[in-house]
Amino acid sequence: MRQIPVYTPSFTGNELAYVTECIRSGWISAEGPFTGRFEDAFARSVSRAHGISVCNGTAALELALRSAGVGAGDEVIVPAFSIVSCTAAVLRCGATPVLVDSDARTWNMHPELVAERLTARTKAVLAVHTYGLPADIEALASLAASRGMVLLEDAAEAHGARAFGQPCGSFGTLSVFSFYANKAITTGEGGMVLTNDPLLAERCRSFRNLCFGDRHRFRHEELGNNFRMSALSAAVGLAQLEKLEEVTRLKRRNASLYRQRLSALDVLELPLERTSFAENVYWVFGVVLKEGAPRPVEDVRKRLSTAGVATRQFFWPMHEQPVFQKMGLFGDEQYPVAESLARRGFYLPMGLDLTEEDIDFVCNALSEAIS
Ligand SMILES: *Cc1c(COP(=O)(O)O)cnc(C)c1O
Repeated sequence: MRQIPVYTPSFTGNELAYVTECIRSGWISAEGPFTGRFEDAFARSVSRAHGISVCNGTAALELALRSAGVGAGDEVIVPAFSIVSCTAAVLRCGATPVLVDSDARTWNMHPELVAERLTARTKAVLAVHTYGLPADIEALASLAASRGMVLLEDAAEAHGARAFGQPCGSFGTLSVFSFYANKAITTGEGGMVLTNDPLLAERCRSFRNLCFGDRHRFRHEELGNNFRMSALSAAVGLAQLEKLEEVTRLKRRNASLYRQRLSALDVLELPLERTSFAENVYWVFGVVLKEGAPRPVEDVRKRLSTAGVATRQFFWPMHEQPVFQKMGLFGDEQYPVAESLARRGFYLPMGLDLTEEDIDFVCNALSEAIS
């Protein structure tokens, strides 16, 4: 029976050649030249001066927050609807996460709701481009600027996307990316912090590398971490970056085929193709069952799975996470859009090797599973 995975990374470029070159050179740690080459090339692709590679996107978030000076007593605005990494990174810095609900149509954090949650202690706003659709980053940037707050931009789901004519990842004082295996560019595990500020870049480099001393290497002024990326991973990343435009093109093609075949199913809400300032790059193609759909999401997903179509649930909202409730966080706060998306949303296969027949197959299975 045909089995369609939710995603499979593809390695159709120079991955093997660069990894081979890396191994032959003997320089496989973060000291190897491929790490710097990948950092420079990636930073340039997003129009930023400095790239600091790390072992994953979660570490990149923590590094960005720490280097921005976020710590005990500070509040950081984060989306209620996102991956746990955002809220976790704020907590690891000793700061307090403050949640904001999403816009019902874009699924991104709602800028007007952000304004309502600012206090004298708000130190930073963490903007996330959800599922490949850029957030209203100009609104968030001007809000941050008007209050002297730091704008952090999480573009882990928006490789290759542009907003207001500029690359996503070029707006934040610090921006972060992930190169996990299901991201648009992958190094297996990996991440990057980008910034134009040389001082922040230096702090990131130091903290990522155990804060080794300047004069005596093994005398440490601060407590750092080892978040380094190996040159082997960077070699893969450099090759992946060369293919990013093709990845974006293929994902948009998949999305357009899905859209043609699914727009007649009126119990389904499809992701927005564009906003007034950006076009979706479809990290994933998320669908939401509308109120009154004949079956609950778990049923639909189970039936799809039986038919050979893999799907994933949407994120679970931060205020409903058992781990944060046990920590006494978020009390009985409510974020109705995040709650509804979590209960009704899931995403469809987005492999770059999907054929038109595969997409027909998924869409037929989906319309049967829903009815
Ligand atoms: C994937 C992701 C991360 C975390 O990246 P990892 O490399 O898995 O640690 C952070 N933020 C967002 C928005 C993500 O989608």
